[in-house]
Amino acid sequence: MSVARTYLDYNASAPLRPEARDAVVAALDVFGNASSVHTEGRRARALVDEARASIAELVNADPAEIVFTSGATEANTWALTAPWDRIAVAGIEHDSVRAPAAQTAAERGVKTIELPATPDGTVDYKTVGLGAGTLMVLQRANNETGVLQDVEAAGLWATENGVRIHCDAVQAPGRIPINFRTLGATTLSLSAHKIGGPKGIGALVISGNAPLPPLFTGGGQEVRRRAGTENVAGIAGFGAAARAALRDLADTPRVAALRDQLEAEVLRATPEAVVLGANAPRLPNTSSIALPGHSAETLVIKFDLAGIAISAGAACSSGKVGQSHVLTAMGLAPEVARSAIRVSLGTQTTEQDIAAFLAAWKRICGSASLAA
Ligand code: PMP
Repeated sequence: MSVARTYLDYNASAPLRPEARDAVVAALDVFGNASSVHTEGRRARALVDEARASIAELVNADPAEIVFTSGATEANTWALTAPWDRIAVAGIEHDSVRAPAAQTAAERGVKTIELPATPDGTVDYKTVGLGAGTLMVLQRANNETGVLQDVEAAGLWATENGVRIHCDAVQAPGRIPINFRTLGATTLSLSAHKIGGPKGIGALVISGNAPLPPLFTGGGQEVRRRAGTENVAGIAGFGAAARAALRDLADTPRVAALRDQLEAEVLRATPEAVVLGANAPRLPNTSSIALPGHSAETLVIKFDLAGIAISAGAACSSGKVGQSHVLTAMGLAPEVARSAIRVSLGTQTTEQDIAAFLAAWKRICGSASLAA
């Protein structure tokens, strides 16, 4: 007998949207090479162009600024290859930023500067004395806590101080508006599977004045910035997901209300629980909840057995037992960080999903008296 599942792990990967699935399937039959001049080739090119325009609209960029990549890990890695004197990265950034920053530092002698974060997850870049010629990486929204960085304010500050910004915006589209024109970032990374598109496709948005060398050079694709025959089906799915994600912004108040209800009832059932980043601006769909004395890994397994998918910190690091580097960088005590689970909602989340989660929470986490 199959058990009904409740999926509350949108920040790890969102369910494939029907319109993205349809676009992928249809594009698989468009077999021409998008670089070919014949009719078949032009059909494939049209799909790529249409998707590029949709993604540009999602983030208010120029279509010419969108370069397709295999995902945000590739986009982040690429953005860090420019010849900077210094790279500034906070401990709360995703591994796909932190690891290439460390690699660039080791291989090219680029100085890396660790930016501090407050206990609420906000990056403090002003007190570190970043000089001109620094690339500062600043995520728009954290994948574990949902805490937002004010990239726009940072962009104004960066312009005055000769600093450039790379923004990892993977968790933001469809949840909060993104405006590449006013953000103040030189480059910005996106990933399709976080917005209901297929996995293995993403983009780096590159402003015209970014001193970024091509990623791959063996072909003329993507205006010679990223060689290789285009992943037309993935790109078409990404485009369809981008159009749907833009529409989803209207659904934000509903998702936020469900998330707020979940947190309020968790705190009522278990007053010792702590909502991390609660005092900072956050994504409307994400809740990071610590329950000191419990192990997040064990909680995830118990919830899974109860039919509910949540995560302990970042899914990208699942299989790796230990403490989240994000929560550690926020200065949280190890027993708090080790107990934190992440619940992330999306467009298909219903009141029934929240009720199922709360019933399981009370059963799994509540002491007999509190849960009664
Ligand atoms: N940055 C953030 C904030 C993420 O959450 C993720 C995915 N977990 C990535 C980058 C990597 O994206 P991708 O899966 O497309 O490589």
